[in-house]
Amino acid sequence: MDKEEIQEIASKCLSCNAKPCRKGCPLTNDITEFIKCIKKEKYREAYEILLDTTILQPICGRICPHKKQCQGSCIKGIKGDAVDIGKLETFIGDMAIENNWPIKKIDEKLKNKKVAIIGGGPAGITACAYLARRGFSVKIFEKHNNIGGLLVHGIPDFRLPRKVIKETIQKVLDLGIEIATNQELGVNLKLDELEKEYDAILLCFGANISSKMNIEGEDLKRCIWRK
Ligand code: SF4
Repeated sequence: MDKEEIQEIASKCLSCNAKPCRKGCPLTNDITEFIKCIKKEKYREAYEILLDTTILQPICGRICPHKKQCQGSCIKGIKGDAVDIGKLETFIGDMAIENNWPIKKIDEKLKNKKVAIIGGGPAGITACAYLARRGFSVKIFEKHNNIGGLLVHGIPDFRLPRKVIKETIQKVLDLGIEIATNQELGVNLKLDELEKEYDAILLCFGANISSKMNIEGEDLKRCIWRK
């Protein structure tokens, strides 16, 4: 989308004092304020506002169920179309990548504190970004040979291009995060060993077991169910 289209979307926002859209966002993104910045063409400031609560802007902008969340709570939706918040967030996230706007560190005081994050999906990546911003030394342990989790293994490319995932994650890794892949808890990774080395361990492996259809034969060997 170009800036003209983005300005047209942003111009529909009423800058509501009560911020109902923010209340509808599970991350509590300050949507009202970031849209105000977009209206003034202060795109970098809009990015910094989003950064307070999300480091996955280009991803959330594309795949969040906005109609049930922020857009579903937008006052404009009562009599007409809600503000298309997803497109605005995507635009800012993509702009941050194109312009190499970093995720800045807030302080370095805690760099002697080490945190192990088990699971390199969206939760693990987000947690490590905010910990690293605060100065912690963070390492992600991931069971697959690449990080991204559900973003990579559960969402098709046409909905979420791999390039967007890769570039978004790279911005987080630029904070100086270490990664160890092919590390599976309980297999070649042991909690008691991690406890000796790390000050804290965060378990972020998500819910990655598929729902069952509960039909006869679905557990048979070589039986694969595809949508
Ligand atoms: S509720 Fe809608 S109109 Fe009001 S500030 Fe949020 S996005 Fe803008």
